[in-house]
Order: sequence, then C-alpha cells, then structure tokens
Amino acid sequence: MALSRRRFLVLAPASVAALLAACSGSKPTQVVVKSAPPLQGTPTPTQDTSEPIPPPEIDLSEDTIPQAGTALLSLVGQVTGGQVKLLDRVYPLTQGSRSIYAFIGIDAEDPPGDHRMDVEFILENGSRGVLQEQVTIIHTQWPIDAVTLPTAFLAQLLDPATTGREEGFLKTIYSVYTPQKLWKSEEAWRLPVNGILTTRFGEVRSYNGSEPSGHHSGTDIGADAGDPVLATNSGRVAMARQLELRGNMVIIDHGGGLFSGYAHMRSFSVAEGQMVAAGETVGEVGTSGLSTGAHLHWEMSAGGVLVDALRFTDGSNGF
Ligand SMILES: [Zn+2]
Repeated sequence: MALSRRRFLVLAPASVAALLAACSGSKPTQVVVKSAPPLQGTPTPTQDTSEPIPPPEIDLSEDTIPQAGTALLSLVGQVTGGQVKLLDRVYPLTQGSRSIYAFIGIDAEDPPGDHRMDVEFILENGSRGVLQEQVTIIHTQWPIDAVTLPTAFLAQLLDPATTGREEGFLKTIYSVYTPQKLWKSEEAWRLPVNGILTTRFGEVRSYNGSEPSGHHSGTDIGADAGDPVLATNSGRVAMARQLELRGNMVIIDHGGGLFSGYAHMRSFSVAEGQMVAAGETVGEVGTSGLSTGAHLHWEMSAGGVLVDALRFTDGSNGF
C-alpha cells in the first residue's frame, strides 16, 4: 500500500501534546479525548490506570479520491476498534492481519472538494481518541451514452416499482457490516471474466432521446455465454438468487462492509452462506434478467456505497 503523498494529520486537541512528544523523541503521552462521543456498541471505560499507549498512525492509500473511488484506511498501533466518519457516513474499522482497516467508498454524487475525515479509535487500555485527516474528493467525468431500446424493454427498465424493489433489496445486503476480514491481502483483486469492457461504472444514459440521468451501477464486460465468472477475491456468498432486472446474481461478502456482485448470469454454482476462494467459479456468463446480450454486470459496494469495481483491479485506488 502506498503512503499518501499529501498527508494532513491532525490530532484532536487533547492528543496534540502526545504527537509532539512522540515526534520530539520524548516519551509519548497517552492519547485520550475525553470529549469524544462514545462509539456505538462499545463499553465506556470506567477508570484507566494502565500504561500510556502511543497514538496510532493512519495509513491511507490515497487522500485524493475520485467520485466512485475507494480508499483503504489502515490504523497502525495498539488499537482494538473504532470507526471512520466521512460526510454523513460511518465506516467501522475491521481487524486485518497487520492492522485495523476500513474501505472508504466514495459515492458517485459525493460533493467534490476538501472534507474532514474523523478516525475514532479505542486503544488496548480502553482509552479513546480521534485522529483527523483531510481528504479531497475530485470530480469524475462520467461518460454519457445515448441508448435506444424497444419501448416495452425500456418501460420495464425504468419502472420505478421494479427498480425501487430491487435496489431496496440490494441495499439491505450491501449495508450489512460483517466484522471479519474475509478477503485476502495476498490475492490481487481480479477481473471476474475475460472480455470486452462495454459499459463503465457511472455512465449516464439517455434512453430513446430522454434527458441523461442516473449512473450505471456496475461495470459491464461482454463475454460468451457459459464463460466462467470468477470471484474477484475470497469471501462468503451473501446472496445467490434470481432478480427481476439483474437476473441470476451472486453477491460475495468480503467482510468489513465490502461486497462484490455478479449479475445477468446464465446460472450460478454457489449457495448462500458458502465460503468461496479468490478466483473460484461462482457462475456462468449469461443474459438473464433485463439484458440485451451475454455479458457480466459486475458491482462493488464499500460501506454501503456503490463504487467503480475496475479501480480495484487497475491499481487506480492506490492499493
Ligand atoms: Zn450493467
């Protein structure tokens, strides 16, 4: 993971002395922010008589993040839990193999500009602190595509009852937080199928001459029907069923609020609850649901936010 180049790190007031002490080589002081709001689901320490613990350090893959990008934040130190707050969202920290981490998904519609990120943490001795980091969200230029579809097809695609039902259902899955790391750092995030990129994430579409609107929720890869669809990384199958629009779809929970979804498949070969390894076949390319030809629609969601899946495989997320 690359260290961010434009680090702007601020400790909450009670912790500034501790950081300065650490930097000057003298004995670090305990980082305690008494005014920090209590974290949900964690006990409040009564009295702290333990040894001081130096403040943890933030390692952020990128501090300039495009809309629909994802940053990987790691907190290195003697930390047992915590959460990241950015805009109006909360990303719980999950224990990894070497640090505690969170994938920070940036929404396609998040406002560009500088934003403060609060990293709330709990140390091994029960004390709490907050680190602040500035991140810059940059505008992504979304491709606009004019699409002509048969009227009946379009009516089904744009029917708010159908889209609302399906998006609501997917939201209940993507908003789950599993407090275990189920993906493997030693496995590179891989393309689930070999083929031709036909529609990028976030594309804005004009249907039959209408005003361009919305964002394509995934990455479309054209491939032959029957080609194997592979898990981009390891995890647990959160969903494997037939949906109205996305057809046969499998969603893998990678833990810590990160999910990958594979749609329009001819069939799927895994069951809900099953563990899958990185690169394991989860189904076959098809054109089920509302689709005009054989392709894979590949989604990724981080912290309940749909993000650009290709950025996981092309290195542009910085991890
Ligand atoms: Zn698609």
